[in-house]
Amino acid sequence: MIQRIFNFIDGEYTYLPECKYLDNYAPATGEIYALTPDSNEQDLELAINAAEKAFPIWSKMTTTERSNILLKISDLIAENLEEFAQAESKDTGKPIALARRMDIPRAVENFKFFATAILHTSTPAHATENGIINYTLRKPLGIVACISPWNLPLYLFTWKIAPALAAGNCVIAKPSEITPFTAYMLGKICKEANLPKGVLNILHGQGGKIGAKLVAHHKIKAVSFTGGTQTGAEVARLAAPQFKKISLELGGKNPTIVFADANYEKALESVVKSSFTNQGQICLCGSRIFVEKNIYEKFKIDLIEKVKQIKIGQPDNEKTEFGALVSLPHLQKIMTYIELAKAEGGNVLIGGERIKIENAENGYYFLPTVIDNLAFDCRTNQEEIFGPVVTLMPFETKEEVLEYANSVKYGLSASVWTSNIETTNFFAQNLEVGIVWINTWLLRDLRTSFGGMKASGVGREGGQDSLLFFTEPKNICMQML
Ligand code: NAD
Repeated sequence: MIQRIFNFIDGEYTYLPECKYLDNYAPATGEIYALTPDSNEQDLELAINAAEKAFPIWSKMTTTERSNILLKISDLIAENLEEFAQAESKDTGKPIALARRMDIPRAVENFKFFATAILHTSTPAHATENGIINYTLRKPLGIVACISPWNLPLYLFTWKIAPALAAGNCVIAKPSEITPFTAYMLGKICKEANLPKGVLNILHGQGGKIGAKLVAHHKIKAVSFTGGTQTGAEVARLAAPQFKKISLELGGKNPTIVFADANYEKALESVVKSSFTNQGQICLCGSRIFVEKNIYEKFKIDLIEKVKQIKIGQPDNEKTEFGALVSLPHLQKIMTYIELAKAEGGNVLIGGERIKIENAENGYYFLPTVIDNLAFDCRTNQEEIFGPVVTLMPFETKEEVLEYANSVKYGLSASVWTSNIETTNFFAQNLEVGIVWINTWLLRDLRTSFGGMKASGVGREGGQDSLLFFTEPKNICMQML
């Protein structure tokens, strides 16, 4: 049965009689299983009006009252974890085990983290001479937009919504039209948690249409956006003339650097994960793997062996480690990159093609792929592929590999494997990225600043950075005597 998704506006699931719908596909089978509203300006106006009415109520609540409601949302997602995980896996093609272990628990944590963070904030005061004191007030901005991508749908949607709400804003949120389902489910949870009507409004639809209208709307004070670099540029172009605050978390082409003095087994294990978790569709995946020359051949053989062992299958199978890609256009894009890599002289060591899975012949399955024999500056090694395709390259010196690592336009994250403290410091200081992992990957502490340099973004999210973004500082200067 095909399910219908609704917008969540003013505390209710709503639709306009003339509403048009977009097909929503299950990547595992290639079948249409839901219909997503293709929202228009009328829907947006309803959401803006609801948020405008709600703002005085929500922003004037005490932080404890807001905190309690957000904690309730967190608890309710946790109580319904299995239902959310099943929906996320179906909508994205990711293994159910991953949705259970990572996506939904992180959505629970996002609400819990910001619900409690607001209980522990402070603002600076400056005692100036002669009885003068300056102090800073931080106020919520008003109505803000949160726009998220398809790869970690509920995880990233709530990563933006939770701090925006915690800081006292009302939100109009737009999930990706490719993976709208768990965002749709969140409406019901907010209602059950007694979130006042209009505080969070969830609008579905196409990015270039309703997304762009949302960004450009004159009542939207700030835009928190995660998605592709090209889309980020368009969001910045739309927001700039109205001087809106923007936070842009964009694409990446992250290096993984393995030195011969690293813990070999741990590095190898981690490289498999950083290459292929979520079918390589995580902005933080390491897609360019540089290995020190004296262990290169061994590492290559061992990596191929490990990749062969990855359990590929239907996402709803408990044992599956590697599911389907998110959509047919995305799969086709990845296939064109394989052709490009071959044309550039690349040697496909493993994978490189679409596969058919029994009972799901039309699903979007693509083999985990490792390619070598490519120059660090060819297009395959410079452009974001955002799928299960990684390249292997040898290096001899740390200076040489630093140049390779920093050669891309992106600057999101990097992972360095070494036991040498000088090497560690060298890369910590010189890599042009927002996050450097040393002897680990994807370890996240929600208090830390998260974001990218160069074409990977503008601004930082996480911990205090998110709360600062979603509030406006005002300096008060008082003559006391
Ligand atoms: P995308 O840019 O196509 O879409 C992201 C969101 O923006 C979607 O909700 C989409 O509907 C909306 N959108 C599209 N055009 C818009 C416009 N003109 N105005 C307003 N909104 C618009 O990205 P995607 O394909 O969904 O996601 C993949 C990309 O996201 C990759 O580049 C990946 O690296 C990046 N990403 C970055 C991070 C990070 O934290 N830096 C995290 C996850 C994904």
